Amino acid sequence: MAELGNPQNTIAVLQKYNFNFQKKFGQNFLIDPRVLEKIIEAADISRDDFVLEIGPGIGTMTQYLCEHAREVAAVEIDKNLIPILTDTLSGYDNVEIIYNDILKVDINRLVQEKNQGNSLKVVANLPYYITTPIIMGLFESHVPIDSITIMVQKEVAERMQAGPGTKDYGALSLAVQYYAKPELVANVPPNCFMPRPNVGSAVIRLTRHNEAQVQTADEKLLFALIRASFNQRRKTLVNGLNNAAGISYTKQQVVKALEKMGLPANVRGEALTLEQFAELSNLLLLYSGGEQIG
Ligand code: SAM
Repeated sequence: MAELGNPQNTIAVLQKYNFNFQKKFGQNFLIDPRVLEKIIEAADISRDDFVLEIGPGIGTMTQYLCEHAREVAAVEIDKNLIPILTDTLSGYDNVEIIYNDILKVDINRLVQEKNQGNSLKVVANLPYYITTPIIMGLFESHVPIDSITIMVQKEVAERMQAGPGTKDYGALSLAVQYYAKPELVANVPPNCFMPRPNVGSAVIRLTRHNEAQVQTADEKLLFALIRASFNQRRKTLVNGLNNAAGISYTKQQVVKALEKMGLPANVRGEALTLEQFAELSNLLLLYSGGEQIG
């Protein structure tokens, strides 16, 4: 089977199978070999690696992954793509095509079966509308992951990397940075895809921290505080937490914690670093004497 990472061969495959793009699955296929090579290089795939590819499409990147990895599992939700993948990947014996929604796959089991529970690498050109649930699902499920190298909407890549006090800083920045170190690999313009998306894209690599970067006694509380702070961005942190469903600390407790941290009572959530959110969670637990999220 011919290499797919160019427009002619991609068109030939699409015509052979009379394939219709499905907007609901965010189908924009990569047609630029330079971008594909960059993704493989950034993901640092070697013959030791077991790789999970989310949304292989017609198998363009999958072919590259099969060339470099020990084994690849490619999870695709569109059943019309399964016969195409079977064809385009017929030359490789180190790939399993899994017809499923990635959000329903038991990745822990997959890793046990395919990689004896050792860390896997995730590579994906994601449908943009489910980027956040996929990434957070992977991290929160505590699947052993070495790195996630993904194509996302450019603005999402910027949010993942943002620091305190910037307009892009938010719950996604903190959640990603809690688990991983984000590094921008490349900006990718719309003409590298077929069909062209109407937004700019970027490849970002998230390398999972080996050790926790901050100490929190209650991870759930930490994330509840982060979400509540950014849900009401224009409010002060004290008022944001006071109005948030599921968080039941008093204003006095929050002000006392901020004071202890040397922060003014009118500080906004967007000014706090991850370390400060962790400290806040620990102080609130201390003042309330236990679990307080409902
Ligand atoms: N990797 C291919 C490429 O780079 O050319 C295709 C990328 S395309 C942006 C996204 C792919 O993810 C599509 O093939 C789409 O059908 C698939 N997809 C969408 N939602 C999915 C889900 N929940 N689980 C698995 N695959 C999904």
